[in-house]
Amino acid sequence: EQDVSEYMKSLAIRVSGFDVPKPIKAFEDCGFPSQIMNAIKKQGYEKPTSIQCQALPVVLSGRDIIGIAKTGSGKTAAFVLPMIVHIMDQPELQKEEGPIGVICAPTRELAHQIYLEAKKFAKAYGVRVSAVYGGMSKLEQFKELKAGCEIVVATPGRLIDMLKMKALTMMRATYLVLDEADRMFDLGFEPQVRSIVGQIRPDRQTLLFSATMPRKVEKLAREILSDPIRVTVGEVGM
Ligand code: ADP
Ligand code: MG
Repeated sequence: EQDVSEYMKSLAIRVSGFDVPKPIKAFEDCGFPSQIMNAIKKQGYEKPTSIQCQALPVVLSGRDIIGIAKTGSGKTAAFVLPMIVHIMDQPELQKEEGPIGVICAPTRELAHQIYLEAKKFAKAYGVRVSAVYGGMSKLEQFKELKAGCEIVVATPGRLIDMLKMKALTMMRATYLVLDEADRMFDLGFEPQVRSIVGQIRPDRQTLLFSATMPRKVEKLAREILSDPIRVTVGEVGM
C-alpha cells in the first residue's frame, strides 16, 4: 500500500472513486495480446506515460473513467488500446451491425489523429476504423459506414448527420469515448454530444478525457458516467 501511494506520487497521479485498480509499471502488466505488444513496440513506446499507468488498468477492468491530463500526455493510447481489447472480447463480431467503439473529438484534426492512432493498433486484428468528420463527402462517408466498421472516430456534428441518414446504427456500441470534452463544450457541441450519448445503450463503458474540468463538463460527466474513477495527472485548471 505504501509502495503504491509512493509510486502514484512519483507519477503525479491522483484518483478518486471506489475499488481503484493499482497503476501499472509497464505495458507488460496489462496482459495485452502479442499483436498489441508488437504494435506498441513498433510505435517506440517503451513505457506507459503517467495517465496511461493509471487509466489502462482502470479501463481494462471495465470501469468508466474521467481522465484529466494536459495535452501531449498520451491520452489517445489510454483509450485506444483497451478499446481494441474490448472489441476482441465481443462474441461473434459480424452478427450485428454498427460500431462497437465510438470516439467523439471536437475537431476534424483531432479526430483524424485519433483515427490514425486507432488504425495502427486495429490493423493486426482486421478491426475496421471509419472516420466521420468534414472533409470527405457525405455520400462517400455514408457508403463507407454502410460497408461496416467496428470503430468510428467522429466529430459530433457529422456523426449526428450520419445517424440521421441511417448510415449506421448504435445497436452494437458499448464503448464510448468523449475526448477533449472541455473543447467540445467550448465549441458548442454539448447538444450534439448529449444526443449521441442518448443513442448509445446505457450499459456501455464510458470514458471522458479532458485537459480541464469546467463545471459544465463535470455536470455532464456526473450524468452520463456510472461510478466513474477519476484520474488526474498534475495540476488541473477549472
Ligand atoms: P494527448 O491526447 O494527451 O494530448 P497524445 O495521445 O496525442 O496526447 O500523445 C502525445 C504524443 O505522445 C504522441 O506523439 C504519442 O504518439 C506519444 N506517446 C503516447 N504514449 C506514449 C508512450 N507511452 N511513450 C512514448 N510516446 C508516447
Ligand atoms: Mg488527445
